[in-house]
Amino acid sequence: MRRGMACALTAALLAWPHGATASADAGAAKAILLRSIAFRTVQGEGQVPGLAAYYASILKAAGFAEGDVAITPMGETATLAATIPGRDPALKPLLLSGHMDVVAANPADWTRDPFVPVEENGYIFGRGAEDNKYDVAMMVATLAQLRREGWRPRRTITLLLSGDEETDMVTTRALAEKYRDADMMLNSDGGGGLLNDDGQPVLYQIQAGEKSYADFDIGFTDPGGHSSAPTPGNPIYRLAKAIDRIAAYKFPPMRNELTTASLRLSADRVGGDVGAAMRRYADTGDPAAADILSGHPEFVGQVRTTCVATMARAGHALNALPQSATVSVNCRIFPGTTIDAVKVQLTRLVDDPSATITILGDPTASDASPLRADVMKVVGDAVTARARGVTVMPAMSAGATDSLYFRAAGVPSYGVSSLFMRAQDGFAHGLNERVPVAGIRESLEQWDRVIRALAGS
Ligand SMILES: [Zn+2]
Repeated sequence: MRRGMACALTAALLAWPHGATASADAGAAKAILLRSIAFRTVQGEGQVPGLAAYYASILKAAGFAEGDVAITPMGETATLAATIPGRDPALKPLLLSGHMDVVAANPADWTRDPFVPVEENGYIFGRGAEDNKYDVAMMVATLAQLRREGWRPRRTITLLLSGDEETDMVTTRALAEKYRDADMMLNSDGGGGLLNDDGQPVLYQIQAGEKSYADFDIGFTDPGGHSSAPTPGNPIYRLAKAIDRIAAYKFPPMRNELTTASLRLSADRVGGDVGAAMRRYADTGDPAAADILSGHPEFVGQVRTTCVATMARAGHALNALPQSATVSVNCRIFPGTTIDAVKVQLTRLVDDPSATITILGDPTASDASPLRADVMKVVGDAVTARARGVTVMPAMSAGATDSLYFRAAGVPSYGVSSLFMRAQDGFAHGLNERVPVAGIRESLEQWDRVIRALAGS
């Protein structure tokens, strides 16, 4: 229900006996957002626990029981878990998620101090305003309102806030391990709406899958020697041949229900040969259509795994045969493909038994979540209630969010941010990050509808 509408009272009466169903107050939600930006929750600053304590104080003031709000310190950061217990203990919980940390920001580069929240020209500016403090503020305000009403959902609701999503994701892994026995997770840090230049909503994406991220180092070595006496084992030559083969290779085209749905829904908007290729690929899997899409950097990631050389280092002196050459290759892996399978393919392409191929770090792959009818309907209805006529489509993103570890743990996860932005206002991770103030009331209504419907009244 929209606050302030003439029919509000009638609607509230119709909703009886479930009680009042007003979404949270927009002014209160904005105040939470502004206050939260002032916490410098960059890695190493140690301010995430303070922000968690601030959110916890709001939830407890609204009536959350002491034992239902838990802050768990982890090194200099922390996690927050806040629960509204459900009436039916047989139902697995609904998780809501976001992150409290932000990407570093250099004040010297910003027009304004990134950690002094400012409201100006209809925007709130500050590091983390978009990523992810806006939606965290909306969820905290909504849960506080639901608690104040004394609302008892059928299904337990747990808000999980991680503390190092932008860096190490250690807190994310801990949360995914602890809360893996859940019905699903709604992640505020993915998906969301697009406004056109005039500020009218045109598109909303539900993020239901992510490509996995993995880096490989491919190394070649040789005894070396004097450059006046070249040998065939030169590591730079071997590296160059291997890179040529990797560059020329196309991983097989892949589709899933997520990418076929989003390609079909995007085909008309894109139009022309590319739009036609989108439809043909979605409908038939035609590899020629996949190749047309692969010619466009903005679409290649939607049709196949991609690997690209990103860094190289070799040699040690101008007059010596190189003793080593190494290239780093970054891969964005289509859901359903394992990181080991990509390594096997790279090994085949390198075709040099003396080369070493190393996976860097400890990457995790995740499958796409199924496009659950309840999520698509509830989120679709909540979005079209605020933005009539908008196209709601599933989406697979190229970057990773906390959903990665929850999907890997078996929890279907959906990016359903309540933020609608113009493309030119998207400055997440960048300078002068901002969010429009005008959408706050509708964001609160969206969360209110989605949470009530999926947790059950
Ligand atoms: Zn984020």
